[in-house]
Amino acid sequence: MDRIRVLVAGVGGRMGRLVAETVRAAPDLLLVGGVDPAYAGADLGEKVLGQRSGMRVDGDVSSAITRCSPQVMVDFTAPDAVMGNLRGAIARKVACVVGTTGLEEGALEELARLCTEQATPAIVAPNFSVGACLMMRFAAEAATRFEYAQITEFHHAGKKDAPSGTALATAERMSAARAADMQAPQPERLALEGVMGGQVGGIGVHAARMDGVVADQRVVLGGPGETLTIEHRTTSRECFMPGVLLAVRHVFEQEGLVLGLGKLLV
Ligand code: NAP
Repeated sequence: MDRIRVLVAGVGGRMGRLVAETVRAAPDLLLVGGVDPAYAGADLGEKVLGQRSGMRVDGDVSSAITRCSPQVMVDFTAPDAVMGNLRGAIARKVACVVGTTGLEEGALEELARLCTEQATPAIVAPNFSVGACLMMRFAAEAATRFEYAQITEFHHAGKKDAPSGTALATAERMSAARAADMQAPQPERLALEGVMGGQVGGIGVHAARMDGVVADQRVVLGGPGETLTIEHRTTSRECFMPGVLLAVRHVFEQEGLVLGLGKLLV
């Protein structure tokens, strides 16, 4: 069977490097190229994978697609870069697996339209780790049984968006599972601006950035006389790789835009 030809956008970044290594090690996948403006023209192997590969990093998606004819593009870039990359790939009928978070408002609607118009599938997941997907599922189920909920997420200091896509998706799924908003009592006086965090349907969302963590999230639900805590800890970015591989291998079986990994994990 032919190997699936994979292009990695954001290949010089923390996630992109790991994705490139993981794709290269998978026997059924073929790493055909990488895109990252800061590394344009460099040898992909030397700059990113630690040994010469003879494969050049491209500075933009369009030239990478022309040069290496990928079937799937994996994008782990940045909120202000991702849509440009996806427009370029989908216009050329390259299926997309997207991990970048913090997409601008209306981006998913545009993406869904492009996927349908071009008959090209895309999977967008705010979190590719199996544990985080289960955390979101369990939190949505628990949200129907409790009247109070707070989500706290901790990420590494270099993360560009807040709250994390996972925290936002968790809150939205919890809120969608309920008929009414959660109770969100507000104190009469606040001694510190922003101390109560943001809110989605009465669910508090709090973000913290610091060295020493990769991506952690805690969902605490409260009711009379009890709390339930659902916690997910990422100890290394490797936890995202099985989900990325699953999405790359199954993206062609999807129609249009698929949100989250849930559908592939059943
Ligand atoms: P990162 O280390 O900053 O890597 C992003 C890379 O993309 C950088 O090298 C950046 O270059 C490059 N880039 C910028 N514009 C580009 C473009 N137009 N085309 C190609 N590459 C471009 O960030 P990261 O930690 O790898 O995270 C990347 C994204 O993935 C973030 O949105 C993060 O929240 C998300 N993420 C998702 C998951 C998930 O499971 N879904 C897991 C972890 C992270 P410059 O530095 O020169 O701008």
